[in-house]
Amino acid sequence: IEEEFDAIVIGAGMSGNAAAYTMASQGLKVLQLERGEYPGSKNVQGAIMYANMLEKIIPDFRDDAPLERHLVEQRLWVMDDTSHTGIHHRSDHFNEAKPNRYTIIRAQFDKWFSRKVREAGATVLCETTVTELVRDGRDRVIGVRTDRTGGIIGADVVVLAEGVCGLLGTRAGLRSMPKPETVALAVKEMHFLPEEVIEQRFGLNGDEGCVIEAVGTISRGMAGLGFLYTNKESISLGVGCLVSDFAAAMESPYALLDAFKNHPSIRPLIAGSEVKEYAAHLIPEGGYKAIPQLFGDGWVLVGDAAQLNNAVHREGSNLAMTSGRIAAEAIVQLKRRSHPMTKRNLSLYKIMLDNSFVVKDLRKYKDMPALLHTNSCNFFTTYPQLLSKAAQNFLRVDGTPKIDKEKATTAAFVKARSRWGLVSDAVRLACAWR
Ligand code: FAD
Repeated sequence: IEEEFDAIVIGAGMSGNAAAYTMASQGLKVLQLERGEYPGSKNVQGAIMYANMLEKIIPDFRDDAPLERHLVEQRLWVMDDTSHTGIHHRSDHFNEAKPNRYTIIRAQFDKWFSRKVREAGATVLCETTVTELVRDGRDRVIGVRTDRTGGIIGADVVVLAEGVCGLLGTRAGLRSMPKPETVALAVKEMHFLPEEVIEQRFGLNGDEGCVIEAVGTISRGMAGLGFLYTNKESISLGVGCLVSDFAAAMESPYALLDAFKNHPSIRPLIAGSEVKEYAAHLIPEGGYKAIPQLFGDGWVLVGDAAQLNNAVHREGSNLAMTSGRIAAEAIVQLKRRSHPMTKRNLSLYKIMLDNSFVVKDLRKYKDMPALLHTNSCNFFTTYPQLLSKAAQNFLRVDGTPKIDKEKATTAAFVKARSRWGLVSDAVRLACAWR
C-alpha cells in the first residue's frame, strides 16, 4: 500500500465534493480522485441548485460561489405541436435576502466547490481515474488502484460518488448497471444572449431568473421533459427521455431537441442566440425501487451512483449533496468513536439517509416511474393534445353556445380514452402521487 487515508472519495461532482468537504473539515485525512481534467469538466446539469442543501455544508457559500440567477418564476407548460397551456408561479417572496434556488453552470460551480474541498484540507487529484476497488481476503474494500500508478492507495472507507453509470461499483459487484427503463438520456445546449435581452424576454430584474419545464408532444409519446433555464448571459435548453423509450421508438435525442427549439412557444425566447456548448448525460430515474444496497464493508454509495434522483421534482444535485454530506457525517461519527468501517457500522449512513428528505421523497413517489413508463403515450401525447384543444375551444368566441363547447370537450376526452380509461388514469395518478 502506497499511502493510507481515512477516506477516499471517487468523483468530484456534487455528492463527492459534499462528502470530501464534510470529512476534511472535520479533520479526516481525505483523498478525492476525479477522472476529469478539472472538477466539473465531465458533469452536466440543467441546472437548478438548491441553496438549503448547500447551506448545510457551506453556510456562507453565497459570498463567493459562482451563482447565475436566483429563481423567482416557474412555468410548467403542457405542449402540443403548436401550443402550450401553462401554470405559472412568480413571487416577489423569492427575492429574499438568501434566495432558495439558483441557476448555476456546473463547470464553474464544481471548480469552486472543489477549491473549498482543498481549503478544508483534502487532497484532490484530477485526471486520475480509479480503475479498481481493492479488497482484502475477507471481501472488505481496503483501497483503490488508479491509472496513475500500479500501487494500492489504502483507506478505511471508500465513498463511491462516481455518478449514474457507476462502472466501478458495478464491476466490483456492489450494484448492477441501471436498466434502460430506469435512466433518462438528456441532451442540452447553451444559448448565449446579452444579459438585457434575457431580462427583457422573461420579464426579469437584475439577477432574477425563470424556469420553464415542458411536457407533451415534444417527447413523442415517450416519458420525458423539456427544460429552459435562464442564466446571466445564456439560456440552458434541453430535453430528456427514458433510454428504453428512445430505443423502442428509434427516436434520436437531437431530433427531439431540434423540435423543442423550433416549437413556436420556445423559438422566440432563444431567437438570435449563439449556441456555444452541447452536452449529453444520463439521469437516474428509477426512483425508490431502483436504489441499490448503499453500504458494505469499507464502502458507501452516494448521489447518482446510488440512483438518488427525484424525477418528479427534477431534483438530483440536492439529493447528491445531502447523501454525500450524510455519508460523511456517519463516517466522521464512526471514526470519532474508533469504530471500524464495517458493513454493520456503516448502516448508520442508511439510517440517517432514511430519516432525511432524500429517502422520504423517493418513497413517496415510488410508483411514479412505473406509471409514467407504462402509460407514457397517454400522459405525454393524448392528454396534452386534448388539453390544448379544450383550451382553444374554450377561448375561441365563435357564437357556439358554451354548453355545446363543454359537451364537445367532454366527448373528445371520452372518445380518446373512454370513461373507464379516464377514471383509471386519474386513480392511478392519484395513488402514485400520494
Ligand atoms: P456527478 O455530478 O455525475 O459526478 C460524478 C463524478 O465522478 C464526475 O465528475 C466523474 O468524472 C467522476 N468519476 C466517475 N468515474 C470515475 C472514476 N472511475 N474515477 C474518478 N472519477 C470518476 N439536478 C438538479 O438538482 N437540478 C437540475 O436542474 C438538474 N438538471 C439536470 C439536467 C441534466 C441534463 C442532467 C443530466 C442532470 C440534471 N440534474 C439536475 C441531476 C444532477 O446533475 C445530478 O443528480 C448530480 O450531478 C449528481 O451528482 P453526483 O456527484 O452524484 O454525480
